[in-house]
Amino acid sequence: MEEQRFIRHVPRVLAALFLVSCGDQTTLVEEQPTPPRHLVVISIDTLRADRLGSYGYTRNTSPNLDRLAEKSRVYRAVTSTAPSTAASHMSMLTGVYPPVHGVHNVALGPNQRDQSEATQIAVAPTSLPTLAETLHKEGFVTAAFTDSGYLTEDFQFDRGFDVFKSQPEDIKQKVNRALGWLDQADPEQPTFLFFHTYQVHTPYAPPVAFDQFSNPDYDGPVRQRVEEIRNAKSGGGLRHAKKFLPSAHKTTADDREYLSDLYDAEILYTDTHLERLLSALQEPPWAGNTAILVTSDHGEAFFEHGSLGHGSLFDTDLHVPFILYIPGEEPVVIETPASGVDTTPTVLDLLGLPSSYLCDGQSLLGPTETGRPLFSFQKKPGMWGIAARQNQNKIIRQRNPESWDQFDLSTDPGEQTMLTAEDPASKNLIRFAEQTLETQLEVGAALRESSETDSSTLSEDTIQRLIELGYVR
Ligand SMILES: [Zn+2]
Repeated sequence: MEEQRFIRHVPRVLAALFLVSCGDQTTLVEEQPTPPRHLVVISIDTLRADRLGSYGYTRNTSPNLDRLAEKSRVYRAVTSTAPSTAASHMSMLTGVYPPVHGVHNVALGPNQRDQSEATQIAVAPTSLPTLAETLHKEGFVTAAFTDSGYLTEDFQFDRGFDVFKSQPEDIKQKVNRALGWLDQADPEQPTFLFFHTYQVHTPYAPPVAFDQFSNPDYDGPVRQRVEEIRNAKSGGGLRHAKKFLPSAHKTTADDREYLSDLYDAEILYTDTHLERLLSALQEPPWAGNTAILVTSDHGEAFFEHGSLGHGSLFDTDLHVPFILYIPGEEPVVIETPASGVDTTPTVLDLLGLPSSYLCDGQSLLGPTETGRPLFSFQKKPGMWGIAARQNQNKIIRQRNPESWDQFDLSTDPGEQTMLTAEDPASKNLIRFAEQTLETQLEVGAALRESSETDSSTLSEDTIQRLIELGYVR
């Protein structure tokens, strides 16, 4: 019924465009008659791909994830759909780009908090099924353990979950919580577990034992801040995220190196505890029938382009890991560019289930389409930032003043040499990106028309968490 309602509201050409975009997703079902019974998706918020050994990092930050990668499908060129938590996760969990689902981070100023309008946030249209809703309908038991922040009931990330626990806490406690739930779960029931941690998000204040990469002689202001946090730390470091990152241009090279080293230590700490979860999933009763996806919503910049943190459309902020363990499958490394928007169609395909009638992504299990343009969006007042990647060609729409910059990722993976995007291929890509955004906004508006509600009110609790994250002042 929902489908009919949707089609009535969307011009036929748009509906056709999106229907076609889901593609033929029966590849693996044909090759593997028995799909895995269970699915676990682990999202390590703010984890850039190139800090993992399995993505070429030389520091030993991720021995356990690397071990998993050795027996998995490792997609080496996955771009997130947005450099921000809410938008990117909702794309991951629905299979559509941010302009379609309409969910974004908020950035309330100090004077806006009391205005009821400012605390109204967009939520995904109810006519757009989430992965959890789809699996729940298919008889899966669904559980999510998130680190709060944006992944809350307010933003309706709980849709479709039988159990939804949004709690800011250390990775050690989060893993304990998930293991406790797995212990009492019925392995005979198909299960979907979504696990999310902010452990590698700011503040980077890993336990001292994991602080193995930083210069012991560094004596700058960041060390002092980290020590304050360590001394005050209780119940999750996220509460100290606010103002943790100094203003980028006021930092010295030593400060930035120290921050980056601490970030690596947080990855090692996360990896160490995730090992307990990964081991449990590869032992009876879960072994052999549980697929595991490890990914992230966006990366983190360390002054490569003049900023710290995330929010830009450079690959520092967009290149994320995508490690898909499928029991019984041979490992493979896949270099074809793909997107976080492919998450839902991929895992549904893996479980032998069809994708939603509406999806921008495609299953990554079969031969992936080369030359497919992939998009990332950044909603800002007045204009959308867009990045589009086609093979090794990447363009970014800059604001103030508006311009399109081009980067050739084959020779310049660090995006250090800005070109002017005037060649025919780039001009085509720009046109296509602009048209795509327009179409997606139209589809999003149509979905909203056919939905029961398109906004939610932020609770005081969520506002508090967002203040701690540094998003709300
Ligand atoms: Zn995030």
